[in-house]
Amino acid sequence: MVLDAPGQPLRAADLPEPEPGPGQLLLDVRACGVCRTDLHVVDGELTRPKLPLVPGHQIVGIAEDGRRLGVPWLGWTDGECRYCRMGRENLCEHARFTGYDLDGGYAERVVADERFCLPIPDGYPDEQAAPLLCAGLIGYRSLRMAGDAERVGLYGFGASAHIVAQVARHEGRRIFAFTKPGDADGQEFARSVGAEWAGGSGDQPPEELDAAIVFAPAGELVPAALAVLARGGTVVCAGIHMSDIPSFPYELLWEERQIRSVANLTRADGEEFLALAPQVPVRTHVETFALAEANDALDRLRRGAITGAAVLICRA
Ligand SMILES: [Zn+2]
Ligand SMILES: [Zn+2]
Repeated sequence: MVLDAPGQPLRAADLPEPEPGPGQLLLDVRACGVCRTDLHVVDGELTRPKLPLVPGHQIVGIAEDGRRLGVPWLGWTDGECRYCRMGRENLCEHARFTGYDLDGGYAERVVADERFCLPIPDGYPDEQAAPLLCAGLIGYRSLRMAGDAERVGLYGFGASAHIVAQVARHEGRRIFAFTKPGDADGQEFARSVGAEWAGGSGDQPPEELDAAIVFAPAGELVPAALAVLARGGTVVCAGIHMSDIPSFPYELLWEERQIRSVANLTRADGEEFLALAPQVPVRTHVETFALAEANDALDRLRRGAITGAAVLICRA
């Protein structure tokens, strides 16, 4: 499924078999998760995609030697810029991202740099494993950035939040879920995966929170989240794109509250999280679509009509 230009539907195309270059593997794609970032690419909010582009960066595939591997968003780094040398390859100045700079997994075959592929834990069917590769990974990194917060608010309860809630509960934290106002089904879903309280994004939780992770791409949630934080609390913005954050009184930030973003992932995040997921154990809730239904999956995600994570089944 090919993006020719932002703002257009993806086009089903018969492309030549991709040729693996040095250090690359050819993978038979089994499943590929649909991420909100894909939507930002297709809708033109991320402005520098390779074109034409095969989107998709939560790829579960089988290598020619039979290994089942995951291909995440971080597809290549230079290994030598100041960020790479500091161990912060997620900030690499020349990073290439899967399904943005490199063709991704909305396809039957993909090539990927072997050094950035992650082993998929046993016990997860392909479609259950796919959302671990970005929703899970970025959610995990976001939770780490929340420090040792005990009471954690999650704004936007989709693919990432439903995984983070399970990891956080496993670590003995408490989860408070914020959905679109009036989304009773979303709130019920949040409670079913471990939230002790669920309400609308403008609601006051029953107590102050130590951290809030904002997954929804709505800037107005940042001051809303600050307003429910205890002293010293942190708002973590987990998405790659967000509408403008409205101005707010300094009082909301005072008392050492912080706002920070999370960008991309490191390979170490991937290895840590994929080792942790089966121990929790994380159970992903997925809605599956055929590869040819990618536009439908994206549209449902755009409308907030997916419960958990959307996944394309790509195997022929
Ligand atoms: Zn670098
Ligand atoms: Zn993603």
